[in-house]
Amino acid sequence: MTVDLTTRLVSADPAGIAAAVQCLARGGLVAFPTETVYGLGADATDGAAVARLYAAKGRPRFNPLIAHVPDLAAAGKLGIFNSDADRLAQAFWPGPLTLVVPRPPDCPVCDLATAGLDTIALRVPDHPVARRILRDFGRPVVAPSANRSGHVSPTQAAHVMADLRGRIEMIVDGGPTAVGVESTIVACIDEATLLRPGGLPRAAIEEALRHPLARAARPAESADEAPLAPGMLASHYAPRARLRLRVKDAEPGEAVLAFGPDLPPAMRHAKVLLNLSPAGDLVEAAANLFSHLRALDRAGVASIAVMPVPPEGLGEAINDRLQRAAAPR
Ligand code: AMP
Ligand code: MG
Repeated sequence: MTVDLTTRLVSADPAGIAAAVQCLARGGLVAFPTETVYGLGADATDGAAVARLYAAKGRPRFNPLIAHVPDLAAAGKLGIFNSDADRLAQAFWPGPLTLVVPRPPDCPVCDLATAGLDTIALRVPDHPVARRILRDFGRPVVAPSANRSGHVSPTQAAHVMADLRGRIEMIVDGGPTAVGVESTIVACIDEATLLRPGGLPRAAIEEALRHPLARAARPAESADEAPLAPGMLASHYAPRARLRLRVKDAEPGEAVLAFGPDLPPAMRHAKVLLNLSPAGDLVEAAANLFSHLRALDRAGVASIAVMPVPPEGLGEAINDRLQRAAAPR
């Protein structure tokens, strides 16, 4: 996928911004400057666009992404802010601070962007080009660093071009970025907790809160990509039902998570069946992964039979998530 696109480089002038907004609205991938690094933007409400973003970066895992918005009012429509979250947003937005807050049931951000979690990471970036795009687009935009997985974060449009040419639709050149470090991430779920140190120092946050931050324990997973997981913060989505992976039969009463056009006879008649992609398209399957798992879980079954998903492309990240969801708890 996306290896032979024409990648347009546009200036951060009104015509370039307008082109970027139109491209996002069509489900395209647009790199643009934030005050930290260049982000690779996609419409956070569009599961297929977010799936294409993972494919373009070549990430082997679906980690939850940060939804970027132009201001606190827009953020308030996507997350539930307690008094700590409100205080931090008032004090530091726009700026290099990401807040993880509970996600309301009507949150329009797609399940793939939050990796199926009941929480959402939100940020208002402090960069005139990023804010103009977010304001004009009017929907939240996920924007992880605009580089291939495992490569260094880009601080210039030319870095993005070198790394992602042919894999994304557009790059908005707004000159070099200033901070060069990632945002600080604070969870405001129960106790305000530092999840990732970054561009905004802990002392400034504690001063605004007028109390110390709790510090999260890091799970033994991949160092820089895994979300930290204290108390209520699940490190990854886990269904209540048991998962049986790579199976071609379904036991009585079991729900089926299918993939592709050819369903084995033993599965076709399951009472509860959802197909990740009837066409066998891995981008579509990725976009549906978390919402289908949630829907099957809501059906109240004890077990979900999951058909094999090929390991190529996004299949690697899909299989990674399925394996974690199947791990005994
Ligand atoms: P970035 O690499 O700057 O795009 O930040 C993405 C990081 O934000 C992820 O790797 C997670 O560590 C963190 N994150 C995003 N959403 C959540 C969430 N709901 N809960 C905890 N951490 C999150
Ligand atoms: Mg990165």
